[in-house]
Amino acid sequence: DYTLLRDDQDAGDFETGQQRNGASAWRLISLAKEQAFVLFLGTVALLVGSLATVAVPKLAGELIDVCITYGKEGSSGDEAKDVLNKKLLQIIGILAVGGIATGIRTWLFNASAEKVMWRLRNNLFTHIILQEVGFFDRVRTGELMNRLSEDTRLMKSAGTISISIALRSSVVAIFGLILMFMTSPLLSALTLACLPFLLVSFRIFSKLNMKYTAEMLTASAQAATVAEECFGSIRTVRSFAKETASTERYAGAQGQVLQWGLKSARSSGFFFGFNSIIGTGSIVTVLWFGARQVVDGKLTAGQLSSFVIYALYVGTNVGSLASVISNLIQAVGASRRVFELLDRQPRQKPSGNEKPMGAPEGGEVIFDNVWFSYPSRPDVQVLKGLSLHVQKGQKFALVGASGGGKSTIVNLIQRFYDPQRGSITLDGVHLPEIQHEWLHSQVSIVSQEPILFAESILYNITFGVQDPSSISLAQVEEAAKLANAFDFIQAFPQGFNTKVGERGIRLSGGQKQRVAIARAILTKPRILLLDEATSALDAESEALVQEALERVEAGRTVVVIAHRLSTVKTADEVAVIDGGVIVERGTHPDLLAKGGAYAVLVRRQLSGPKLESSTS
Ligand code: ADP
Repeated sequence: DYTLLRDDQDAGDFETGQQRNGASAWRLISLAKEQAFVLFLGTVALLVGSLATVAVPKLAGELIDVCITYGKEGSSGDEAKDVLNKKLLQIIGILAVGGIATGIRTWLFNASAEKVMWRLRNNLFTHIILQEVGFFDRVRTGELMNRLSEDTRLMKSAGTISISIALRSSVVAIFGLILMFMTSPLLSALTLACLPFLLVSFRIFSKLNMKYTAEMLTASAQAATVAEECFGSIRTVRSFAKETASTERYAGAQGQVLQWGLKSARSSGFFFGFNSIIGTGSIVTVLWFGARQVVDGKLTAGQLSSFVIYALYVGTNVGSLASVISNLIQAVGASRRVFELLDRQPRQKPSGNEKPMGAPEGGEVIFDNVWFSYPSRPDVQVLKGLSLHVQKGQKFALVGASGGGKSTIVNLIQRFYDPQRGSITLDGVHLPEIQHEWLHSQVSIVSQEPILFAESILYNITFGVQDPSSISLAQVEEAAKLANAFDFIQAFPQGFNTKVGERGIRLSGGQKQRVAIARAILTKPRILLLDEATSALDAESEALVQEALERVEAGRTVVVIAHRLSTVKTADEVAVIDGGVIVERGTHPDLLAKGGAYAVLVRRQLSGPKLESSTS
């Protein structure tokens, strides 16, 4: 069951993909362990309630017999009424206790189910977010979302409510059976004759149900992925007028869910219909046979009534046991998918724990013979023995045709991935040995299309700081001013508390860039990574962004993926990346004079206001 994987992916992603059903079921139920005490109290309430339930038919039977006896003998009405009142009071008392117990049981079991799910979801989220970046390259977001919400929802009640209903049904059914036998062994034996049929049909049904549930969950995860993708990319959908096509794509995925859902509905219909026929048949038989016994004087009318009520109890409770078990089967299916995720260990070694290293004004990056391929495409060698040396305080520009490996270099500096061979060091320390939080406070990125979170501008600017409460508003404003963002933020009615919308959709491209610059510099990083926008902003925004960048570049090491002539001209060193290696390096004038790959590139690719004058 490797449903988490993309089609093009090797199955080795989950070591524990093959959880056995039994083991999963046990683990699923033990999720409720933390709620043991509450569940114990709930179980006590459950037993009290169940005993009350089974006690009622006996008293009701006695009540009927009192009526019949006194009716026959024609004794005084008062005596009969006394006995009746006493019986009735007993019944009322028992029903009241039973009602209260049922209320307490329902409350306690439901509350513990909520808590179990709450913890499970939090654990799962924490576990997913700690996976390495390569994992997210391979696994669809919709799939993860589905496991986090849908699968955990199915699992929610397993160890708590389901178990409680199963327990209650079993208790009532067992007591009911015992009382049936005590009332009339012969009628009981007759009733039980239908058992083998029920067992066989249940076995077939549960097998089918398990298969259909697994298929349905897989299909609904696929549908969720489609929905997520379409809504998340609504602008692309709209701009190509692909609403209908998207709807069809979703309907196609949802059609799979429906197909399995219909199969499941049909098998449920067969199962419950068959059971109902068998059940009704056995009741009719019991009534016919029992009535003859009453006529023959071997059984009282009250006893027959009690017996029938017990038989109905047993029937209903066995029925609800069956549906609980079918829910549990679904939960086990869902839990396998969740445990599979929970058991996955990140493939990337955790970062070393040592605290800050090197001189505060460091910022030297060295790639030494780095070989790298993406985990999702291990057969494509992206970097092939690349070496580069970015000195501290240098502005280092990466240029080259698209697909050469520039972004990959920037990804590796952030340790999104580890190279297969070679080493990357920051101020002489291997990246894996640098403490995770510290590394990311020292390396900040401003990318082409910065992603903001659907929170306030303040939240977004302080996002890079581990403890945002340690940052004063003055510091945030200072960063915003440096980033040329202060004025436009102040112009919003809610200022820094303005919500930016999903992915920052409510801000213009230039505004987003400047918020991202403020975010990047608030941590005072040694190294600034820039991924220059290929698409031009309007002239004014462009100028504001450029000015802000120049300000924050000062005194820092800058590694920039350059698309503009103005950028490479101001770089201390330019490296032309092609096919995963550096093919040329030097300063802009030197490289231009050399007339090699760089000169060609400048003529063809690098754009900018001064392009004509410099190349003509
Ligand atoms: P550039 O930034 O120079 O345009 P990239 O570093 O983005 O080049 O890409 C280099 C190669 O790596 C390309 O062949 C690209 O298809 C591949 N690549 C980039 N990102 C990934 C990824 N997340 N998973 C798999 N392959 C990738």
